Amino acid sequence: MYVRGVGPRVATLLEAKGIRTAEDLLYHLPFRYEDRQHPKALYELKAGETASVIGEIRSAGLVRTNRKPIFEIVLAQGAFTIKCMWFNGGYLQGRLRAGQAIALFGRMEASRSSRNLKMIQPQFELLPEAGGDEQTRLLEVGRITPVYESLGGAQLASRWQRKVIFQLLESIRGNVPECLPGAIRKRNGLPERETALAEAHFPLEGTAADDLEQARTPAQRRLIFEELFFLELGLELKRRRSREQKGIAFATTEGVREAIREILPFHPTTSQKRSLGEIVADMREPHPMRRLLQGDVGSGKTIVALQAMVVAMENGYQTALMAPTEILATQHYLAARKLLGRSSRKYRMALLTGSVDAETKRALRRQMQRGEVQLVIGTHALIEENVEFDRLGLVVVDEQHRFGVMQRFRLMKKPNDAEPDVLVMTATPIPRTLALTLYGDLDTSVLDDLPPGRTPITTRRVASERAEEVWEFVHGQVAAGRQAYIVYPVIEGSRDDQQELDFAQESAGEAEVTEKPKRKSARSQTLFANEKTTARPRMELRSATEMHEQLRTRALAGLRVGLLHGRMSADEKEVVMRRFQRGEVDVLVATTVVEVGVDVPNATVMVIDHAERFGLAQLHQLRGRVGRGSAKSFCILMTGERVSAEAEQRLEAMVATQNGFELAELDLKMRGPGEFFGTRQAGLPGFRVVNLVRDRELLEMAKQEAVRFVTAPDPEVTEAERRRVWDHLKQSWQRRYGLMEAG
Ligand code: ADP
Ligand code: MG
Repeated sequence: MYVRGVGPRVATLLEAKGIRTAEDLLYHLPFRYEDRQHPKALYELKAGETASVIGEIRSAGLVRTNRKPIFEIVLAQGAFTIKCMWFNGGYLQGRLRAGQAIALFGRMEASRSSRNLKMIQPQFELLPEAGGDEQTRLLEVGRITPVYESLGGAQLASRWQRKVIFQLLESIRGNVPECLPGAIRKRNGLPERETALAEAHFPLEGTAADDLEQARTPAQRRLIFEELFFLELGLELKRRRSREQKGIAFATTEGVREAIREILPFHPTTSQKRSLGEIVADMREPHPMRRLLQGDVGSGKTIVALQAMVVAMENGYQTALMAPTEILATQHYLAARKLLGRSSRKYRMALLTGSVDAETKRALRRQMQRGEVQLVIGTHALIEENVEFDRLGLVVVDEQHRFGVMQRFRLMKKPNDAEPDVLVMTATPIPRTLALTLYGDLDTSVLDDLPPGRTPITTRRVASERAEEVWEFVHGQVAAGRQAYIVYPVIEGSRDDQQELDFAQESAGEAEVTEKPKRKSARSQTLFANEKTTARPRMELRSATEMHEQLRTRALAGLRVGLLHGRMSADEKEVVMRRFQRGEVDVLVATTVVEVGVDVPNATVMVIDHAERFGLAQLHQLRGRVGRGSAKSFCILMTGERVSAEAEQRLEAMVATQNGFELAELDLKMRGPGEFFGTRQAGLPGFRVVNLVRDRELLEMAKQEAVRFVTAPDPEVTEAERRRVWDHLKQSWQRRYGLMEAG
């Protein structure tokens, strides 16, 4: 439709910001509001307060200090004045002039030299003068004024948006189609769509500032609910649709049960029993299973998955397990071989990773095609290489948030076959808000107790100056027959030009790969490095390779010290890993590859150097590598010189709790959902008005309503309302995920 103020040139700019339709523009909500109804009098303001004030510029200009230019204005309300200043404010010269009306938003600071208050670096907006464009003026003063993120430079900043959105709202008044049934709105106290849009942009007089900031006004809640409702509705439908597909109804005869029991070397925990029960119940259904198995590190997911795989094999089907890294695939393979080795049946297993040579791969593929291999474990080489199965019955994905491959299983089976069951395992506790949005189409099983005999891990923070004490402690543990990990953020070199490691880069495999080209063009790299580092003091980063050498010859001399990192070949890695597992190496110096790799119950010490550089989830995963046996375990977080406030918070949390779900919630709060999952690649929907951290309660409401809408139709909801819900659902899923999945 035609929107006043948007010509072809502006349209292009808007499109770059993801705004393609009038509707998109309407859902571009203010990120903040300024109360300009009753502007605060300057004399009311107190130091430390963040306020928005309106006044007239009495004087303006650059103030020379001995260093950088400061732009300063004197803001006046009648006889009362305050100063406002901007550092490096040269760009304001000529823009702010005496006589202009201006609105400012910022923090009041006490001035050192006088009793007066001043504002430092406030945000500002020049106000239209009386007698000018009256409509614009009305949108900006004497009301609660919306402030928008710019949609393209100064031109498409707040003022432009206010005007265009206001006119748009006017032009469609009375014609905004409602997409939520009245019964649902009433039940949840939500206004109509048109009202909600109007008031979210231009709040009614007297709306509480707090409610607005926290997106808690009825108008905002309605729009947030709407977005969540249609997301959850779509997920619920997906869930139901896969239930309706033809799947495999596995039988659980006494023989099958016996086979499951045979591979168990210990008594399963309560939650292992419960989870396996849920999984097997799904597998017996003639519809495909889509289930998520969540459990903290060390909670014992592997054995549960293997038992499910035994059910599939005992029913004459093939089964596959996919892991995110080669090390983890190998680890699973070794574990599987050990456990399945206990069985009287001889299962035929194979390992397929990227580093298997081409000929072996070909042979393997043939065997899978003919159904000669019953169980295959591998990396995503499994799907990439277009492997075909004879009778694929169950796929287990050890996800670690890295794949999002659900849809791609189609590649792996013959057309017209029944859909295989899918079990997704994740070792990272997922906050419920994210689980609901990202995995809302899966059923969930949770392992929430740890296998018996685990003792809590003691976690300490130590500044790196005290490293000697740490090495002494490691000596002591090794003397007592234990083993230790020492983890560094980088493989080699001491550059500090890479981002803080975080969860997104996860199996450091990736973080490390990005380093690879470095050596080849050392010269030009150094040139660039110099340019870069002028801005920031260079910090020495201790690295795995260098510290391995140093520790081996000095602080840890006499101990058997091994090295493991992502640039070693799969064979080399495996050799080191096995030696560590067999106790032939006392101390393993490593990068984050050990995060997912090694399971060594005898290891009791995890030293993480430069702990300030790791994300919470990663720290938690690393810590989970110890405390796997019955001996007391320790996690030592060593920090370098610079620890940011955020890092400080992460480290404190690590010391305070060992509960993965708590840490995950905190991680989500600190970094937001995009970062938590390493952005969209994981399939996290892009929201327009929702903020998952903030809107948790609305998410639960929306989820409930969505399920109810599908399962227990409200008698009050009319046929026309239903149709509008379905139409809107289609549109919103198409926008969000593209056409493919909307169908
Ligand atoms: P996860 O994959 O969830 O991180 P694992 O499956 O690797 O955990 O199990 C961690 C360790 O605990 C393994 O050494 C495993 O053999 C052991 N384990 C698992 N379940 C039990 C149990 N019920 N009793 C005792 N040990 C267990
Ligand atoms: Mg495991």
